[in-house]
Amino acid sequence: MKTLPEPAFNSREVIESCTSRIHNRELAERICSVIPYVENIEQGYKELGVTGGLFEIPSEASVNGVVSSLEMIKLYEGSLSKKGSSSRHYYDKIKLEAKNDICPLCSQRVVKTLDHYLPKSSHPALAVSPINLIPACSDCNKLKLDHLAVAAEDQTLHPYFDDVSSLVWLEATVMESSPPSVLYKVHESSSADQVLIKRIRRHFEVFGLQELYASQAASEMVSIRYALLEFFESSGVDGLKSFLGHQARTRSKADSNSWSAALYRAISESEWFCETGHKHLHR
Ligand SMILES: [Zn+2]
Repeated sequence: MKTLPEPAFNSREVIESCTSRIHNRELAERICSVIPYVENIEQGYKELGVTGGLFEIPSEASVNGVVSSLEMIKLYEGSLSKKGSSSRHYYDKIKLEAKNDICPLCSQRVVKTLDHYLPKSSHPALAVSPINLIPACSDCNKLKLDHLAVAAEDQTLHPYFDDVSSLVWLEATVMESSPPSVLYKVHESSSADQVLIKRIRRHFEVFGLQELYASQAASEMVSIRYALLEFFESSGVDGLKSFLGHQARTRSKADSNSWSAALYRAISESEWFCETGHKHLHR
């Protein structure tokens, strides 16, 4: 999971822009009348986001009984996210914050959309709130669906509030099979905040990261197969370990929780992989 900077604009700015082109003036005025209510929820959201308490924000059937859930969803789909609309630049600005266009939720696939952290169906007041909109790939957006957390540890990570880069939480284990494979899991750490560890684990499950990373690792091992055989041939187990250890350090420096950093740490430390396992990789 990658941390992103919070969007530099707020709900008021977005709602005023989205409603400015609505032909139905009664609807536009009604939506604008709930801006103070939405701002209040947005303020609470920012405070709860920092303490990991967003699950405490109650779901609502409408925005304060004034604007329906459907009307807010239409505002998102018909104005904010609609290609060519006068408000679309807000949507694009949020999307562009993802570094190298990589989805911050899986750290792997390309960003295609914005994901509502709290679903727009259950939290219509936040349907167009920038702080609730996260750049995401299509798969992560679909996998999360309308998942609603009921406890702190049920919450997936939020890229504007959660920074887990100082922890080494991703762990890979080499499976001694033919061909060799790798199993990913969230590292048990007694010194880390246990709620945070449970949230990382939840994030890992909801977005199917074990399967995604294991398939990347399998493909990576095959792609370096000849280098492994050559290192083993020329400098034995120690030479191979040294090569893999160097790869592990380089990748861990860039991102200690990337699938490739965890993969190289695991295979460089596996006696079995360095002695015989690497010979069982097939194209
Ligand atoms: Zn993703």
